[in-house]
Amino acid sequence: MTAPRIGIYPGSFDPVTLGHMDIIARASRLVDQLIVAVAVNQDKGPMFSLTERVALVEQALQAEKLASPVKVLGFDQLLVNFARTHHANAIVRGLRAVSDFEYEFQMAAMNARLDSQVETIFLMAADRYHFISSRFVKEIAKLGGKIDGFVPPCVAGALHQRYGKGDKPPVTGAING
Ligand code: ADP
Repeated sequence: MTAPRIGIYPGSFDPVTLGHMDIIARASRLVDQLIVAVAVNQDKGPMFSLTERVALVEQALQAEKLASPVKVLGFDQLLVNFARTHHANAIVRGLRAVSDFEYEFQMAAMNARLDSQVETIFLMAADRYHFISSRFVKEIAKLGGKIDGFVPPCVAGALHQRYGKGDKPPVTGAING
């Protein structure tokens, strides 16, 4: 019997978007088991706590039909060590644009140097999601914009709760108009 193919999809997921969900669905067709690894990333100053980010991915996954089992775990260690602990063969990353490429290329090369057994697989962002980023979604939500087309419903709910549901941006200082 051959060993199961285990993939790890790491990221901040602060919060998970439809772009991430698309990568999860597609990656689940390539492996026997997928682990969505949510990085603590405290130095990035995440908006949602690790527990919240993990719970939002789990909630979003409930509505999905996936080709293989998907687990969501938090992690706070070197990615290749996490991959080794979980017997993963591949790290999955999404590529949106040329701007993602340099960072991703460097990270994949570093990880390959740290552990030559773990391969990084890149999935091209889908046309309809390539412009979505967690950062812009948070920015839009903060300013009272509509984010329903960018994130799973549970995330839209969590962001609305954070910022209030109003169409108008919250009034701050002396800025008008
Ligand atoms: P990180 O902080 O590790 O970049 P992110 O949560 O921002 O974490 O992204 C995790 C992975 O998902 C990265 O490989 C990123 O390029 C990819 N990704 C983010 N948004 C999208 C999207 N809209 N479509 C496809 N891949 C995406």
